[in-house]
Amino acid sequence: MIIAIDGPAASGKGTLGRLIARHFGLLYLDTGSLYRAVARDVMARQVDIFDINAARLAAQTLDPATLDDPGLRDPGVGEAASIVAGFPEVREALLEFQRQIASSKPGAVIDGRDIGTVVCPDADAKLFVTAKVEIRAGRRFTELSRAGEAVTPEGVLDMIRRRDARDMERAASPLRPAEDAHLLETSDLSIEASFDTAVAWIERKISR
Ligand code: C5P
Repeated sequence: MIIAIDGPAASGKGTLGRLIARHFGLLYLDTGSLYRAVARDVMARQVDIFDINAARLAAQTLDPATLDDPGLRDPGVGEAASIVAGFPEVREALLEFQRQIASSKPGAVIDGRDIGTVVCPDADAKLFVTAKVEIRAGRRFTELSRAGEAVTPEGVLDMIRRRDARDMERAASPLRPAEDAHLLETSDLSIEASFDTAVAWIERKISR
């Protein structure tokens, strides 16, 4: 079974994806970490983040063992990730790894921006998780300030708006819901309520 979860930055899809994977006993892949790792590796070489050849090389030589690096959560890395994610060459180089995980036993929950549309168009269930931009920025601000980052609410709101624009307006695999995705608006929902709604919908969908 493959469950695709897409949505904008800080929509809660990662937390939800992990809980859903545990509930159904599936693997879990946060594909944002792949783009973040590519950005980290380009930044480590101290070349321009817009250098397409450096980004392609970083994607082609990415070591999946480094995907749990806590440094990937830095706000600067997230921002840089959305720049390298705009290069079709980078997306192409990361595709096979994502599909390998998707087709592993016993199945997987995969979250990102283009999972239901490009990576796993035949997924058994597709969710598009979203929330108002102010709510998402508030959640990300709490997360970053708890992690000790020196951020302001206005700065985080700006960052999320920039990221939304870049992810939705790019030509290569832009962020958008797949036609057969179930929209889950979590602005007024707790994690528990989002999880219950998502599981109920997935169970209905896979029993059809
Ligand atoms: O989900 P996360 O915020 O960690 O993703 C970081 C960036 O990676 C996103 O802003 C987006 O530009 C890119 N990304 C993508 N496609 C995915 C997952 C993430 O373009 N499937």
